[in-house]
Amino acid sequence: MDLLNFLQDHAPCYMYDGEKVESQCRKLKDTLSGFDFLYSVKTNAFPPMIQGVAKEGFGADAASSREVELALENGIAPEQVFYSSPGKTDQDIEASFGKCVLIADSISEVRRIHQVAARRGETAEIGIRVNPDFTMLGDRGCASKFGVDTRELLVSEAVLDACTNVRIIGIHVHIQSQILDYQVLGRYYQNCFALARRIQAMNRVWIKFINFGSGIGALYREELDHPVDLEKLAGLAAAIVDENDRTLKAKLYIETGRFIGCNAGKYYTKIVDIKESYGQKYLIVENAMNGFLRPAIANLLSKATEQSLPGYEPLYTCQNEFGVRVLNQEDHRERVHIVGNLCTALDVICENVEVNHTRVGDIIEITNAGSYGYSLSPLLFSGHAAPGQYYVFGGKIFSGE
Ligand SMILES: *Cc1c(COP(=O)(O)O)cnc(C)c1O
Repeated sequence: MDLLNFLQDHAPCYMYDGEKVESQCRKLKDTLSGFDFLYSVKTNAFPPMIQGVAKEGFGADAASSREVELALENGIAPEQVFYSSPGKTDQDIEASFGKCVLIADSISEVRRIHQVAARRGETAEIGIRVNPDFTMLGDRGCASKFGVDTRELLVSEAVLDACTNVRIIGIHVHIQSQILDYQVLGRYYQNCFALARRIQAMNRVWIKFINFGSGIGALYREELDHPVDLEKLAGLAAAIVDENDRTLKAKLYIETGRFIGCNAGKYYTKIVDIKESYGQKYLIVENAMNGFLRPAIANLLSKATEQSLPGYEPLYTCQNEFGVRVLNQEDHRERVHIVGNLCTALDVICENVEVNHTRVGDIIEITNAGSYGYSLSPLLFSGHAAPGQYYVFGGKIFSGE
């Protein structure tokens, strides 16, 4: 495949490297033994991507009833699909009932799932999302829109007793993404496991699975950051696996999104105009923030604050995260602003960047676009066509059709 020819015809588009996706899956499977893995569909729901992780035996962390469907349509078995989000509607619960493991996000949601199950004359085995009484760094819990506070759950036995058509068979915890320190993750997993044991002591709870959520970070900035030391994390996690074998005998799940996809995706767009203003050069491209939002957010943040930001929030981005280059053979370099064609000044890919000398029609490549790229961007804004998506595996290009 001649990438440049392909891009001339198909940019703006995302290209996902399927070999990289699968090798990221294997890194987790091969080091963290005793765990199963769930792919967070919201990070990148492109069907060939879901098929790629399904082939590696990953289940799905679905954030909507539509994502439940997508996971099922792309090769993930119902018992491996976990639907967890706050604010499920009755229609969401009906639509996904029996097709996945529902994770109730509140006590009132347990009740509503019970009502749906009762209407159907069935018993639903569900999980419950817990807002733990610790944070990623250990100390104590805090208010959150996600899950049921530990304290509230532990005193809710009577309410759960009344919900005769549900059985709580697992817990889900997720409090923070983009952690690169294995010791922080190890301690967090320990805390989650201890929490599961406390909850197991309740009536009407049978812990068959513990979902530790995500946390394992992606490598955004190769020069500045170090990847999570998975071997050392596995060393800490082995104690939990042992304790689980002796006690709960639960299935242990780790969720992951960006670790699988982030570095495996690149975004490509085309220069449609070049202009100068007050001596500064602007490359104007198609589908900048309306194709790939995160660079615009990173740019906005770096202007609004001098602080260095971690990559977990807001909007899954951080400064200096993206590699940007022009795909041509020019030796001459120039300093430019790369901006989009929307009628808003926020529509920026990067400012004051040195790239090869460009011509209209050249292709721009942006790295770290495989997660929270297509799925997070305002694709409808201003009525432009959305970028394409392609999954490359074994030298073939899959368009998802
Ligand atoms: C978004 C999300 C994830 C994925 O987080 P990453 O940092 O991309 O791995 C996992 N679990 C839950 C509950 C989420 O909301």
